[in-house]
Amino acid sequence: MVLGTQAKNKAPFKTMILTGQNNHNWQVSSPILKQILDQTELFQCDIIESPKEKEDMSSFLPDFSKYQLVVLDYTGDSWPEKTKSAFLKFVKDGGGVVVYHAADNAFPEWKEFNQIIGLGGWGNRTEKNGPYVYFKDGKRFVDNSPGKGGDHGKRTPYLVTNRITNHPITKGLPTEWMHAEDELYGLLRGPAENMEILSTAYSNPKTGGTDREEPILMVLKYGKGRIFHTVLGHAGNNDKDFPALECAGFIVTFQRGAEWAASGKVSQKVPNGFPDAKNVVKWPGYKQN
Ligand code: ZN
Repeated sequence: MVLGTQAKNKAPFKTMILTGQNNHNWQVSSPILKQILDQTELFQCDIIESPKEKEDMSSFLPDFSKYQLVVLDYTGDSWPEKTKSAFLKFVKDGGGVVVYHAADNAFPEWKEFNQIIGLGGWGNRTEKNGPYVYFKDGKRFVDNSPGKGGDHGKRTPYLVTNRITNHPITKGLPTEWMHAEDELYGLLRGPAENMEILSTAYSNPKTGGTDREEPILMVLKYGKGRIFHTVLGHAGNNDKDFPALECAGFIVTFQRGAEWAASGKVSQKVPNGFPDAKNVVKWPGYKQN
């Protein structure tokens, strides 16, 4: 093998960005996610839209079998049973999944979906959905106390700490890095089975946070499938700009997480200009400068 030819010769990962309903501005976020993935030349993305809220869902049957990776930018109405089982089969058989931001708000009642995302929030989630899981004294902490699932304080830039630094997604990244202004999800709860927390961030009560080291990046296994879960990347409906999506740290971890979910490996080099523990780095146009 000639060095460096392997990645080039490989066909790109067929990727479905599944959207169409969200309490966020999916019309903005899904094309940005596509652009972020496309620029690596490792993915070939189709954006698949569900029917609109409360419209008839019965004919929404995306063909997961044509894809190696599904990026979830969806929270909304339930899918038809056929679609749910096709999605589960896709993951069990080894398909990759990226759970992006509010996608972990979806389907609180769907047991297998919650096993796939590991942790979720809102949708009236409570202790019946599983424990709170976060970091305490530098270690993973499982908290069975009752209470609501899902919360965030005021949007703010914050420091992300990589807790597992030898995973293909985090390998070579600075252990601590500043994330651009974003929501910091907290009080997530769920089954959290077969889940590793790669990165956490301290949710500061001064900005309405939980006073906990909350999970930020997670990886999971479900059947033969690999799941990358990032809580980062808020794109609100009334927003004029999208700093969380322009963050170099968001972009790079998203690209690496997606490749790992699709293949179990990360061939991408860590680019120059990744943020450090002091400074936010934004890439306007969602591209490395
Ligand atoms: Zn949000």
